[in-house]
Amino acid sequence: MTTNLVEAVNFVLRRTRHLPISAVFWAKFYRLATLMPKMGLRQAKQIEAGHLSYTVDLRNRRCECGIFQTLRYPCAHVHAACARANLNVEQFIDEIYTLERKLRIWGNEFPVMPDVSNWEVPPPIFEMVPDCSLRRHSKGRPQSTRI
Ligand SMILES: [Zn+2]
Repeated sequence: MTTNLVEAVNFVLRRTRHLPISAVFWAKFYRLATLMPKMGLRQAKQIEAGHLSYTVDLRNRRCECGIFQTLRYPCAHVHAACARANLNVEQFIDEIYTLERKLRIWGNEFPVMPDVSNWEVPPPIFEMVPDCSLRRHSKGRPQSTRI
């Protein structure tokens, strides 16, 4: 499960991994901004066809799938419900995702780390011995697609 999740994240970020973190953030933002309406439309079509049905309570910000109340971000079902009710889905995005909140977090001062040569590093209490049998072979997946 974890491996599949990491593979999925690697696949999404494969073209942006050499960029600065702000560019990676914006690329991820725009990718999600284009993906979520498509997912909502797909869910709306599936619901209309009678394939799936999730109970969405917009007043209490809850969805039967659990994603909406967990992430505080509209899931595809909420997008579909908002599209059906002709509501703006942005009003259901929690304030933790606002730019003001992010600026407040990153607006704090962070202590500057001293030069590495001045660090006091205690001597290791054990010796690390690599297990050569666990090394990856040069064959297999290309390392260039990894983050
Ligand atoms: Zn949902």
